[in-house]
Amino acid sequence: MDSAAVKALAKDLGADLVGIASAKTLNAFPPDPRWPQTPDRISPHCKSVIVIVSRIPVAVFRAKAPVAVQYMDMMVLRRMDVIAHKLAEALEREGHPSFVTAAQETDWDLKNASYGRLSTRHLGIEAGLGTFGLEVNILTPEFGPRIYLTGILTELELEPDERITEQVCIGESCSRCLYSCPTDAVKHFGIDKRACATAAQEFGFMTSLGVFEEMIDCDDDERRKEIVESRDIYGFWQGLLRVVGSFGDCPRCLAVCPVGNDYHAHLTAPQKVIPEKTPEKVEKAKRFKEARKAGEPIPGLDDWNKRWVGEEGYQGLVARQLQAFKAEQKARAAAHAESRDAEPAGADAPAADER
Ligand code: SF4
Ligand code: SF4
Repeated sequence: MDSAAVKALAKDLGADLVGIASAKTLNAFPPDPRWPQTPDRISPHCKSVIVIVSRIPVAVFRAKAPVAVQYMDMMVLRRMDVIAHKLAEALEREGHPSFVTAAQETDWDLKNASYGRLSTRHLGIEAGLGTFGLEVNILTPEFGPRIYLTGILTELELEPDERITEQVCIGESCSRCLYSCPTDAVKHFGIDKRACATAAQEFGFMTSLGVFEEMIDCDDDERRKEIVESRDIYGFWQGLLRVVGSFGDCPRCLAVCPVGNDYHAHLTAPQKVIPEKTPEKVEKAKRFKEARKAGEPIPGLDDWNKRWVGEEGYQGLVARQLQAFKAEQKARAAAHAESRDAEPAGADAPAADER
């Protein structure tokens, strides 16, 4: 099986996007060398990582409440795991040992925070599927950040994809993710994970820890009873059942990002105004822009990290994409009008015996 065959199979199984990264490159460029998330820590035999993407349906970002995205997140993740598992099985049937990594699990030995054995965002970038946004989500040209990814580790040596060196993110002059963030967690190509978690993981690990600690320390029976019957406990229960509330709770930076044809087609109008935008956030974005222009040291853009942001900087990808999208829309409308004109008069009217 070569790369083209593997990609065709992944698409047939339902992947929205697929790319391939070489294990050698992933081992040489861990996201943070202090806590290396590399394939060789998992298997010394891995030669390639096949990265598949499942998009989150755009409709959930048009909904009024985040519950729509929370529930779909769970379904998208489960479906993605099934696709990845089937792909790994197909590779094994061909004689190439392969397995799927957990996309959303934390390796407690690396760091006491949400920090997986592999970083799926970095896998996606190394597999040529996108680059970092200002809020360090991976942005794909096709669906922006409205995606999930997972990796299949295989012992089959496959031709890797080229990394995108052009910055997909518009950058400081856009800063829409920064404006929309309810906890002001967006840094300069970085994220304050703890601040983000307060909105994105309402019933996540840190919240549960706080509640259990309060319960253990509490010597007031009344208060302990209140905690047991609280919304938090119900939230954890629901999270265990359906993942809802455990992570991905806050859809704001995903919803407002103008990268991707799904945004051009369905989100431009509903996400045009960002209610969370404040003069302070505008000032913060301005400072980011000035710092980059002045060449000041920015950790998210240092010599190690700029690899995943796109060394060439922003070259107008989103503007080009929008123009192409509009041209396609125009062509489709013209073709539709032409086919209607070509229909014989009265073709739409049902025949007498069909009424
Ligand atoms: S909203 Fe703008 S600045 Fe933020 S990630 Fe998307 S393109 Fe980049
Ligand atoms: S998920 Fe929500 S809280 Fe976290 S960075 Fe994005 S907008 Fe901010």
